[in-house]
Amino acid sequence: MAARTKAGRAPSVERVRGTRDILADDMRRHRAVEEAAWATARRYGFTEIATPVFEFTEVFARTLGETSDIVTKEMYTFDDRSGDSVTLRPEFTAGVARAFISNGLRQQVPLKFFCRGPMFRYERPQKGRLRQFHQVDVEILGVAEPLADVEVIALGADFLAGLDLADKVKLELNTLGDAETRKAYRTKLLAYFADHRGKLSGDSLNRIESNPLRVLDSKDEGDREIVARAPRITDGLNDASKRYFDALLDGLHVAGVAYEINPRLVRGLDYYCHAAFEFTTQALGAQGTVLAGGRYDGLIEMMGGTPTPGTGWAAGVERLAMLIAETEPEVRPIAVVPVGAALEGPVLELAQRLRRAGFTVDMGYSGTLAKRMRRADRIGAAAAVIIGEDEIDRDAATVRDMASGEQREIALASLEHHLERYRGKADGR
Ligand code: ATP
Ligand code: MG
Repeated sequence: MAARTKAGRAPSVERVRGTRDILADDMRRHRAVEEAAWATARRYGFTEIATPVFEFTEVFARTLGETSDIVTKEMYTFDDRSGDSVTLRPEFTAGVARAFISNGLRQQVPLKFFCRGPMFRYERPQKGRLRQFHQVDVEILGVAEPLADVEVIALGADFLAGLDLADKVKLELNTLGDAETRKAYRTKLLAYFADHRGKLSGDSLNRIESNPLRVLDSKDEGDREIVARAPRITDGLNDASKRYFDALLDGLHVAGVAYEINPRLVRGLDYYCHAAFEFTTQALGAQGTVLAGGRYDGLIEMMGGTPTPGTGWAAGVERLAMLIAETEPEVRPIAVVPVGAALEGPVLELAQRLRRAGFTVDMGYSGTLAKRMRRADRIGAAAAVIIGEDEIDRDAATVRDMASGEQREIALASLEHHLERYRGKADGR
């Protein structure tokens, strides 16, 4: 007998915890988010690429930092049948950097890439936190100047504004400085945390040894109090880091992007420097970050490539999809309806003719005229093209406007012309 779950259902119909099915309404919102991101990225001169959903484990393990949350707790890692350790991607940047090196793209910099697709992290599922989720992502490779950061941030702001979210999100910005600045800051932080060891959470105590900057990112209440009084990196920037940050802020001003400096903002991953930013919202509870990114000048060198600077961000599609307004279907189909099964042949022929002319056409498959008309209504058809014996005799069809209920007989020869008014914006031309 097959094993049963507690709920008494066969296990094969259960979804894996933290995964979801994206059904029609959700899918429309999902696509609206993705398409808005792509449309905006394209306007900024980005091209779309795709990297594999899985990579050799070391692509992520080495670059994200052996002690990061993602690597220690969240990766879906397994040995494949030949014994290679592979990992389902938890983020885009490391895979894009790997692709940059593997494909020898160094000669072509600057490169501006857009990506979209599923990510996998073994996290505790909750609202806005899934084990398979989706990101849209942009990366600029080969530009050391802050102008590239300004561009990706402005792109992010335009993307969110395009989704009508300008009023719901704010841009938080910080700098992590260059390596020298971070080294000096690390020493200051270590001294500060050493004075408050007793009050820090266990997680944070562990992080102190590996990367004390991560403690600033802690979500533990007790930690946050201590973090609030910790020294600020922005107070200890060396000249180069300060020049960099000032140029970034000037650029954002010129580009018309509003921001708030948050000196506690750090990115969870090891390879970041200089710009670090997040677009956050109050509307999603604890999972308030919808888009996050920063500069990662050391990453490609760390992976064995020629040193190449990079900057970019990733946004969570599900979190954004929860924020945007209900989206209308892009096309409303035309239902073609035979009056009786004998007319299915001619109606199929007509359906194909209209589809090839670029209309979106749904066939009523079986049942009475009334049943087929109910279906036309349910699928939101803009019009129904009804063909009965009388119509066939006169080389005509009855076209019913589903909104007004008005019916007109139209000669088949001019049917396409008459149906023009029902074309949706996603229909072919
Ligand atoms: P968080 O602090 O919420 O864990 P993160 O720092 O791990 O986020 P990033 O790695 O920067 O997130 O990923 C970028 C974006 O991807 C996040 O801002 C969020 O919108 C989305 N995201 C990250 N993890 C998840 C998840 N488990 N489920 C859904 N969306 C996610
Ligand atoms: Mg996370």
